[in-house]
Amino acid sequence: EEAASDGETETYSVATDNNYIPFEFLEDGELVGFDIDLINAIADEAGFEIEIEQMEFSGIVAAIPSERFDMGIAGMTITEERQENIDFSQPYYDAGLVLAVKDGSDIQSIDDVDGLTVATRVGSTSEDYLNENTEANIEAFPEIPEAYQAVLTERADAVLYDLPNVQYYAETETGGELQIVGDTLTGEQYGIAFPKGSELVDEVDAAIDALKEDGTFGDIYEKWFGD
Ligand code: GLN
Repeated sequence: EEAASDGETETYSVATDNNYIPFEFLEDGELVGFDIDLINAIADEAGFEIEIEQMEFSGIVAAIPSERFDMGIAGMTITEERQENIDFSQPYYDAGLVLAVKDGSDIQSIDDVDGLTVATRVGSTSEDYLNENTEANIEAFPEIPEAYQAVLTERADAVLYDLPNVQYYAETETGGELQIVGDTLTGEQYGIAFPKGSELVDEVDAAIDALKEDGTFGDIYEKWFGD
């Protein structure tokens, strides 16, 4: 335990999602995942305490600019639009969007979805992508498992979301019933979110550098993404 010699240890509030495997999700009621391990390691390294609060993803994107929380970590993609209201840490994970369909579907890529129903999550980069690049009917759910469910029950023709999350559902959860089709559509990088002008950004970036240097970051990555 780190005890500040010259006063009290700071406690910062951290907003997170709890339904985004493998970055943050509930396992037997406990919040776990890559982001949860990372933010705890950052807090240890930088010598501050954190208080994690769980909420819907789109709520985090809205809450950070209003300074209701000191930080947000939720597999949040760094985008130019978000950067108008949010400062981000250095990128800590490379992702991208992929399309997935139910086994047996005729859809082979994003080029085939115009006029069809594509499920995704409210407020996500996938929702933006569908709006900007397709003529699909977009069915955006507050929680992403509902989008996969919509495809499996044939209420939606496809789902668009971040590769690591889709991969998990395709490989682990649905026993091959859900299949990724086509290429990875975008390159996206995740960053930790802060209110504009936050002085914590430099401290967190320095902690990430230190965790990369001493191998802790690699260990956490290996734990969640290694085979
Ligand atoms: N990376 C995606 C985004 O930023 C999804 C994040 C999530 O669902 N937690 O929109």
